[in-house]
Amino acid sequence: MDEFDVVVLGTGAAGLTAALAAADAGASVGLFEKSSLVGGTTCLSSGVAWLPDNRYAREAGVADSRAEGIRYLRSLSRDMIRPGMAEAFVDGTAEVTEWLERRTPLHLSLVPGYPDYHPEHPGGKPQGGRSVEPHLFGFDALGAWADRLEGRPRRMMVRETPVGGGTGVVAPNEADRREAQRLEGLGRAMIGALLKGCLDRSTEPVTDAAAVELVQDGDRVRGVRFADGSAVSARRGVVLATGGFEWDPGLVRDFLRGPMSYPATVPTNTGDGLRMAMKAGARLGNMREAWWVPVCVLPGQSNHGEQAVHLVLRERTLPGSIMVNRDGVRFTNEAANYNALGGAFHQLDPGSFDYVNDPCWLVFDARHVEEYGGFTLPPGQAPEGAQRGDSVGELARAIDVEPATLEAEVTRFNALAKAGDDEDFGRGRSAYDGFVGDKRHYPGAASTLGPLERGPYYAVRLHLSTLGTKGGPQTDVDGSVFTVDGDPIPGLYAAGNAMAGPTGMVYGGAGGTLGPALVFGYRAGRAAASGGRR
Ligand SMILES: Cc1cc2nc3c(=O)[nH]c(=O)nc-3n(C[C@H](O)[C@H](O)[C@H](O)COP(=O)(O)OP(=O)(O)OC[C@H]3O[C@@H](n4cnc5c(N)ncnc54)[C@H](O)[C@@H]3O)c2cc1C
Repeated sequence: MDEFDVVVLGTGAAGLTAALAAADAGASVGLFEKSSLVGGTTCLSSGVAWLPDNRYAREAGVADSRAEGIRYLRSLSRDMIRPGMAEAFVDGTAEVTEWLERRTPLHLSLVPGYPDYHPEHPGGKPQGGRSVEPHLFGFDALGAWADRLEGRPRRMMVRETPVGGGTGVVAPNEADRREAQRLEGLGRAMIGALLKGCLDRSTEPVTDAAAVELVQDGDRVRGVRFADGSAVSARRGVVLATGGFEWDPGLVRDFLRGPMSYPATVPTNTGDGLRMAMKAGARLGNMREAWWVPVCVLPGQSNHGEQAVHLVLRERTLPGSIMVNRDGVRFTNEAANYNALGGAFHQLDPGSFDYVNDPCWLVFDARHVEEYGGFTLPPGQAPEGAQRGDSVGELARAIDVEPATLEAEVTRFNALAKAGDDEDFGRGRSAYDGFVGDKRHYPGAASTLGPLERGPYYAVRLHLSTLGTKGGPQTDVDGSVFTVDGDPIPGLYAAGNAMAGPTGMVYGGAGGTLGPALVFGYRAGRAAASGGRR
């Protein structure tokens, strides 16, 4: 049986950071991945990490502090965040970024101006300063591993895309240079750089290795058994970094607080780490929560043969669109951050005992299509499969909504949009709202408020999906997993979406999932390497 000091399960941001931190602390590390490709959902992501009180903001002249970061998380906690975890996260950002810059090829910089997701809360940052992203990374450095990452090459940084405040266009000669040098940005750049750091420390992932069981000697975790019957031993610790449980329908039913469909993550995230931790007697936390996001279904398949979906972010923020429920009525600020919108989708009516805002339709007009496109299409193209009507009434009939209701709703919204203030739901009042809207009018409500006046009108069905669940074993600030009685399970650690999310229901800002994954991945890897003697 192979023996290591530390065994890490999963090769997303949390797993690779834990493996790197353990190897950097002198441990021999076994790194195992269930899929045939490495990088998990992190490779599909934009790679943005939300890190309060970071040095990149300081260098750019943005004022932030430990106290402000903690105050912000506390203001949103609703008593679901354990204060020690929030403090450890904020305290960890400086050390982790300094370590990443010094000891790995991952280099980060600010996504300029990206507001926090609740910027008007105490300690929030309306002008941004907490969202950082990887520099372009050259995949040639990965040798044969360059072709073994999840996802597809994307040769841009977030700041260059419309979501990050850019145009989405890279000059042709620069695009050619990136292609020739195999430079990539976003999530694959983060994984590429972290993987390179691991390879440089002789820590090479073993793929097609699905861990199914912890090997225990009394309480102590001593190793891991895999689906093929093989096993490895871990002298000091095992780190669970196996992502969330969103692809296991039974776990989703048992734990999530409301409906969720079409997960946007890698389908290998089936809660294996959660199951292993439960069998070892772990205390669980944050189980009802996920990183919620509205999506629409696209024609065809992607992501290992699953239904292709598109994260609906800009389309519902841009002027000329509203979201309505099954009754044809608006129910929320459409431009609010995707995670917080989960609460609106989960609104249960006590009388009908039904989720009243599901189904949800994004309704928009011809001007929206002509000016913005969307749904991965350029301006001028309406999405395939959208419902269509020459008038609002005709569209209403197509989506089985009372025509007079939808007509009244559009008339009301148009009046509010023209007056420049959404009195009903406050769309456009937050500095966050219009950031991914019409940049010509940002900051200002007109970046997201605009009437629906020109037919034909369209409706696309939105579903509440997830970027990953965020419940799992509860841990201390170094990722050491607790038993139900609150004692540590010797030798067992968790990080990333496999752990009880340290930020409760909150998505602090762009990068709100990868920020904690880097910090707690680092802490767990380091603690595992020390055998819990820190
Ligand atoms: C389109 C998109 C964009 C996003 N953009 C951002 C963003 O910019 N910023 C941000 O903060 N978040 C973003 N997210 C969310 C973010 O990607 C995830 O929350 C994050 O990647 C989770 O990291 P992780 O390491 O915990 O899990 P993952 O990256 O999913 O990695 C888990 C790995 O564990 C492996 N695994 C599972 N079971 C086993 C097992 N039994 N044995 C061994 N290995 C196993 C999986 O195959 C997978 O490779 C985005 C998500 C999507 C879908």
